[in-house]
Amino acid sequence: MFEQFDLDSELLANVKELGYKKPTSIQELVIPKAMIGKDILASAPTGTGKTAAFLLPIAQHLLDYPRTKPGFPRVLILTPTRELAIQIGEDSENLTKLTKIKTGVVTGGVNYGSHSDILNSTTDILVATPGRLLEYIENEQFDAREIEILVLDEADRMLDMGFRETINRIVAEARWRKQTMLFSATLEGAWCDSFC
Ligand code: AMP
Repeated sequence: MFEQFDLDSELLANVKELGYKKPTSIQELVIPKAMIGKDILASAPTGTGKTAAFLLPIAQHLLDYPRTKPGFPRVLILTPTRELAIQIGEDSENLTKLTKIKTGVVTGGVNYGSHSDILNSTTDILVATPGRLLEYIENEQFDAREIEILVLDEADRMLDMGFRETINRIVAEARWRKQTMLFSATLEGAWCDSFC
């Protein structure tokens, strides 16, 4: 039962509307730890319900500590492809539908200027592919220093795609974060040496 987690009623209602009856194993493992602010390193391929495992604790954090002034995103989710970013963006909108939390998606493959709305309005959760986001950081259209929670989704795939250096730069920019969550199909390699 999702009621076992300390989630606000709006979030529980959104979960119910999506038809989720009981948490998946990764959700059982991750949600309680993430909700008390622990860093997460999880082996979870697509299809396990990992997206809600990080989005629900993130949404609860944003509800517990509401924004006091407009500004840059407080949560950054990095993911390897445009398709995945769009999917996570949709999941985030569905899971936060009854709240005031705002989600934005920034990816390559679309016109450079077309993200100005997202970057100039107050977005809480930003889902991005690494390459395009770093360009926005470099030309000062995006400031990662307000990021409180950083998620690296499909981290092994991002490395396979050659994003290591880009991710290192973004992780360094988001240095004031309080929590890091890394999800990967495999957990081979010294992830935490690089990213945690
Ligand atoms: P993901 O691994 O996050 O890509 O999720 C795979 C699919 O499972 C998505 O279509 C989710 O909407 C769905 N899903 C996530 N959590 C649950 C759950 N607890 N019960 C049923 N379906 C779920």
